[in-house]
Amino acid sequence: MQALQKIQAVARSIPSGDHGFAVSLMEHLIVPTFVIGADGNVLIWNKACERLTGFAADEVIGKNEHWRAFYDTPRPCLSDLLLQRRFNDIRAMYEGGGGYGLSDFGVSAEDWCVMPRVGERLCLAIDAGPIYDTAGELMAVVQTLRDVTAQKRAQINLEALAIRDGLTGLANRRYFDVKFGEETRRAARDQLPLSLLMIDVDYFKLYNDTQGHQRGDECLRAIAERISQTLWRETDFAARYGGEEFAVVMPNTPLSGAMLIAERLRTAVEELHIDHAASLAAHCVTLSIGGVVGRGRDLEAEQLIASADAALYCAKRNGRNRAVVTKFEDARIMAAGAA
Ligand code: GH3
Ligand code: MG
Ligand code: MG
Repeated sequence: MQALQKIQAVARSIPSGDHGFAVSLMEHLIVPTFVIGADGNVLIWNKACERLTGFAADEVIGKNEHWRAFYDTPRPCLSDLLLQRRFNDIRAMYEGGGGYGLSDFGVSAEDWCVMPRVGERLCLAIDAGPIYDTAGELMAVVQTLRDVTAQKRAQINLEALAIRDGLTGLANRRYFDVKFGEETRRAARDQLPLSLLMIDVDYFKLYNDTQGHQRGDECLRAIAERISQTLWRETDFAARYGGEEFAVVMPNTPLSGAMLIAERLRTAVEELHIDHAASLAAHCVTLSIGGVVGRGRDLEAEQLIASADAALYCAKRNGRNRAVVTKFEDARIMAAGAA
């Protein structure tokens, strides 16, 4: 028999108003679904919902404790909020969760749920829809759930890939350009000092030539990790600027702070004691650091980078394995001297 004919035959066999069939249909529906009544207690908790949450229907039906299947502390579910028409709370609790929508037909949201029985956080796409009686009174709310954890993780990974450098896990150059532009504009607007350090590994070509590219990669990863560990402030950020070059941006940091951090970074990497016998600067892998601190209304990202580069050049010329950090105004003089 054709599928359509089969469905028609089944449909004809249902007496109109057969609630048993409707309930059975919902119980076996492949989509995890539960229904709460006007009093807020669970009426239906289907098999797919049991599988998703690890909670059996017996445990939740007739009670208002279905939150336990999703969260580890008491809080309303989307269906409860819809039933109580707490639309402001829906906005407050789910905003930013992504995929949020509110219409006459119900509410849609996404939420990372603790899932106490499953023992693993899951991202659920949630739809809650009102059910009205013939008089137009709200008599129940049906909530359906979809596990979108895999898609969400893939999306998060993709987003991270777009801003992270694949080798070191630091921010990549593209992200640096955007973020540094923002920080420069913010510093200019707020008239706060902005520090930029350009970091370059000394004689790194020689390191690759003598130790091999693989060891070279490991070395860059170790340096990146040290840089991250050495930055303590939430607002500081480090990026891989290019090959063996890194950049560190420190908002609201004056010259004294920038000098301190630059020296701390230099020693932190020196103390890794990564053998580099071919280096002419030391026996181990070392850094040269050029830094600039800008302040003022007409701060420009490109000029700050050029000045930090000039300071870096100065550090290289003066023997490497050292940090040269200057005020933006002085960096111009230094660059003129180098030319
Ligand atoms: P200096 O002391 O003047 O900075 O000399 P240097 O050899 O460090 O600088 P140079 O610019 O001549 O060479 C940089 C080298 O960095 C070239 C390349 O072999 C290495 N490099 C760049 N990117 C990577 C990478 O992703 N992995 C590895 N292993 N090496 C890289
Ligand atoms: Mg270089
Ligand atoms: Mg180098």
